Amino acid sequence: MKISVIGAGQMGGGIAQVFAIAGHQVSLIDVNQAALDRGVGAIRKSMERIVRKERMTAEAMEASMGRITTFTDLGAGAQDAGLVVEAATENVDLKLRIFGDLDTAAPADAILATNTSSISITRIAAATKRPDKVIGMHFMNPVPIMKLVEVIRGYATSDETTQKVMDLSRELGKVPVEVNDYPGFVANRILMPMINEAIYTLWEGVGGVEEIDTVMKLGMAHPMGPLQLADYIGLDTCLAILQVMHEGFGRNHYQACPLLVNMVTAGKLGRKSGEGFYDYRHGGKELVVSKSFQ
Ligand code: NAD
Repeated sequence: MKISVIGAGQMGGGIAQVFAIAGHQVSLIDVNQAALDRGVGAIRKSMERIVRKERMTAEAMEASMGRITTFTDLGAGAQDAGLVVEAATENVDLKLRIFGDLDTAAPADAILATNTSSISITRIAAATKRPDKVIGMHFMNPVPIMKLVEVIRGYATSDETTQKVMDLSRELGKVPVEVNDYPGFVANRILMPMINEAIYTLWEGVGGVEEIDTVMKLGMAHPMGPLQLADYIGLDTCLAILQVMHEGFGRNHYQACPLLVNMVTAGKLGRKSGEGFYDYRHGGKELVVSKSFQ
C-alpha cells in the first residue's frame, strides 16, 4: 500500500522509515524543504545504525531509502495514497486545515490517520467528509525502536478502519493498543502530568535537573528521567499537549508550569533546538550551568 506521511520532523521521519523498511512506497511531505532534507538525512543515519548492528543489509537499506520520495506539495504527495499518516506540528488549527485539504487531495477510499499526541480525533475527523476513515495512529519516539502504537478511535471511526490500522501496525512489527478519544488519550494523559510535576519540582527549587532525573531513573526504574524525556519529546509539544488536556478537562491539574511556558517562549525546545533542561549543542547531553530554572 502506498503511504503518505505529512511532516518530516522527529516523528514523521521515523514513521516514513518504518513503512519504507516494511516494503511500502512512501511519500514524505513537508512545507519546509530544509525539514525534508534534514528528515531524509536522519532516516539515512538511523538506517546506517541498523546496518552496523547487522539487522539489515546495505542492499536492503538502499532499497528502503529508494522507496521514499519527498514532496513540498500536499496534493502531489497524497494523490495516490492508501493511508496518510499526518505528523505535522501539534497545533489544532494546523491539523484541521491539513485534514480539510487532505480530504480533497487523497483518494476517496484512503484512511487518514493522525499521529497527534492529544488533539481530538473526532474534531479532526469533522474537518473531512469521511469521519469513518479518520483515526489516531500514535507512534512513540523514537519510532524505529518503540513497539507501541496507540490506536485511537474517534466517535465516528469505523470498525473496518480500526481493524486495518491495527493489522498494519502489527505488520510493522509494532504492538497496537486500541483506546478511546479523550484529551491526551492514555499515553499522554498519564505521562504529561508527571513531566509537568517534575518541572514544577525544579521550578520550586525542590531539586536540580540532575537530582530529579536521577531520583526517577534509579528510584522508579525509568530508563530516562522526566526532564530529559521532556527535552527528547520537545518542550513545545509537551506544552501543547498540556494545553489540550487543560482545555479539554477544565482541571487546574493540567495547568502547564510557568517555567515550561517561559522556556518555550524563549525558543528552548529541548534536543531539537539544541537546549532545554540540558544542553545538546556539543554533541552529548550536558547540564545547563550558569542559569537557574526559576
Ligand atoms: P517536529 O517539530 O519535529 O516536526 C513537525 C514538522 O511538521 C516540521 O518539519 C514542520 O516543518 C512540519 N509541518 C508544519 N506544518 C506543516 C504542514 N502544513 N504540512 C506539512 N508539514 C508541516 O514535531 P514532532 O515531534 O515530529 O511531532 C509531530 C507530531 O507527532 C505532533 O502532532 C506531535 O504531538 C506528535 N508526536 C510527537 C512525539 C514526540 O515525542 N515528539 C511522540 C508522539 C507523537
